[in-house]
Amino acid sequence: MTYVVNPPEQVSLPVVDSADRFPVGQIYCVGRNYADHAVEMGHDPDREPPFFFIKPSFAIMQQGAQMRYPAFSQDVHHEVELVVALGRGARDIDAADAMTLVFGYAVGIDMTRRDLQADAKAKGRPWEAGKTFADAAPCSAVMPLSRSGVLAEGQISLSINGEQRQRGDINQMIWKVPEVIARLSSLFVLAPGDLIFTGTPAGVGPIDPGDLIEAGVEGVGKLEITVGAQR
Ligand code: MN
Repeated sequence: MTYVVNPPEQVSLPVVDSADRFPVGQIYCVGRNYADHAVEMGHDPDREPPFFFIKPSFAIMQQGAQMRYPAFSQDVHHEVELVVALGRGARDIDAADAMTLVFGYAVGIDMTRRDLQADAKAKGRPWEAGKTFADAAPCSAVMPLSRSGVLAEGQISLSINGEQRQRGDINQMIWKVPEVIARLSSLFVLAPGDLIFTGTPAGVGPIDPGDLIEAGVEGVGKLEITVGAQR
């Protein structure tokens, strides 16, 4: 097929122990999927269930790169998250079958312009300006499920300049990974290459130019980035 304009470049991530890369499609994100984070943001997790939002693939940032601190914000926050990478698509899949879609896992950070998000919340507007910008989704190499096995627990953490800021366990998720996949498959159209950022534990806070950020999920890997000057 030929197109009337050049198609966009495919965004991709490295794969652990492979020369081949993982092509990135949609980036689904779960909001308030850890009770202690919901509480720190002023919400009652017993009354408000988790929910979804989507980042575009241009938000992906590679392991080891320097993040461009985004424009229009003075309060960018880190949210370390377990990322699920889909190898197959589906619609209306049951939770019991959902793990058959998974290619692997990664470590991601849902970077957030908290000041713009708070403004959107106050005005009842969409969150995109808070959640989406270049480098809003730093992500590690993808660890194949064939190597990691299915992960139901494991420490998730993030430190800045060697000081731990976030620490939890992925077994604290309100909606577990199979349930997240099942719900997404009923709401949207899941496809190979889609990523799911599964929510963050407590301890979110600001980043600053010059920071070294180290994030990790036990059994998956590590993600290291630095923060550059505001663009
Ligand atoms: Mn998040």
